[in-house]
Amino acid sequence: MEPISRQFDVVIVGAGIIGLTLAAAIKRYRSTYKIAIIDKEGSYARHASGRNSGVIHAGIYHSQDSLKGQLTHRGNILLKEFCKSRNISVNECGKLVVAQNNDDIAGLELLFKRSKENEVDAQMISESEAQAREPFVKTYDRALFVKESASVDPIQVCEALFVELKEMGVEFFFNTKFFRRDSVSSFVDITGNAFHYELLINTAGLCADTIAKSFGIADEYTVLPFKGVYLKYLDRNFVKHHIYPVPNLEMPFLGVHFTVSVDGEILIGPTAIPAFWKENYKGFQNFNFSEYKETLYFDGKLFMQNKNSFRKFAIEELRKLHSSYLIRTANQLVRNLNPNKVIKSDHVGIRAQLIDNRTLELVKDFKVIKEEKVIHILNSVSPGFTSSFAFAEYVVKKFI
Ligand SMILES: Cc1cc2nc3c(=O)[nH]c(=O)nc-3n(C[C@H](O)[C@H](O)[C@H](O)COP(=O)(O)OP(=O)(O)OC[C@H]3O[C@@H](n4cnc5c(N)ncnc54)[C@H](O)[C@@H]3O)c2cc1C
Repeated sequence: MEPISRQFDVVIVGAGIIGLTLAAAIKRYRSTYKIAIIDKEGSYARHASGRNSGVIHAGIYHSQDSLKGQLTHRGNILLKEFCKSRNISVNECGKLVVAQNNDDIAGLELLFKRSKENEVDAQMISESEAQAREPFVKTYDRALFVKESASVDPIQVCEALFVELKEMGVEFFFNTKFFRRDSVSSFVDITGNAFHYELLINTAGLCADTIAKSFGIADEYTVLPFKGVYLKYLDRNFVKHHIYPVPNLEMPFLGVHFTVSVDGEILIGPTAIPAFWKENYKGFQNFNFSEYKETLYFDGKLFMQNKNSFRKFAIEELRKLHSSYLIRTANQLVRNLNPNKVIKSDHVGIRAQLIDNRTLELVKDFKVIKEEKVIHILNSVSPGFTSSFAFAEYVVKKFI
């Protein structure tokens, strides 16, 4: 078949939440723009956007000098407004961040301070107040109650966006994999079809670094995959709030926690286990030798150089491959957890965590790199789903 050549004002690579919300924000900015979204999968939200915990974060973890700090709370508000106006259920369950010992109190205080700076509705409450809210919660001395944390089904959100974007005239090309840059303003997909654009936006999640490198930029960054697996707790009445530990803010992960889904299902997790290739969801599915080599190389370097105590972190995470260890970790947050009511969940997601190859630091904030006609969105990790509507506003205002 003859290759096809298509012309658009904007082409977005990736039909995850970042690509979808960006398309909607661009259409609001200029409704006449001809926009295409391509994705290598057969539908939208097949990777992180359809495989996350569905927590609508409130914005307590990051300071105002970061994009995460500036965008999460606004993202929370915009996402809830979107859901409300489209009749998508949101569970306004709230969240408790609990302390395990005296050392955690300073961490709780810091989160409380950040929540105030970010204008989040959060309260420091006593241990007995926490237990009045959540009878089985375990905390040392006090806990942080975050009213605005909630949950949603992320696939429903993406589906509503997909339907609306199609109505607005956005064209979707599924099973269409970005292959290589062809010229300053065109690329070809894996079958040789050409896409010409005035602006290209790379929101390819786990593969965003590979695409950026094909444009000769971002050589100093690599996406490292970290796998999140979950357990499911069979008694839906056990807890009603999300329950989180005080995280190590040196690392971009929040630790094993209890999540209450939009329909009351209780998940324990996710882990952040170093994965050996990017789409390493199950067994040797999607095994990729060059990703395996690259991941092993960088994980090995991080392990040896032990930046931010990576060695201790990685060993701890690998232990969580055993359910019994994961249950023990969860037991630090609650009393009376019945191991017989815990089963493995088939829910699994992989974080597209960026590292800076020069310093071997895990990059903490979202990263946007713009060159002449291309915008690359790298490191769209948690709370990327929550922030997405605010992040799209930010990208349009600042870069388009
Ligand atoms: C386990 C886990 C739990 C999380 N929990 C939360 C949470 O509770 N709350 C929250 O706010 N955030 C959470 N996150 C983060 C959130 O899911 C992500 O920040 C967000 O989904 C990123 O969206 P994205 O569109 O950038 O990436 P993705 O959803 O991964 O989309 C990228 C898309 O690009 C496509 N693609 C890749 N390469 C190509 C190519 N070459 N050609 C064409 N298409 C390509 C992929 O098929 C994919 O559809 C979690 C993430 C994980 C992994």
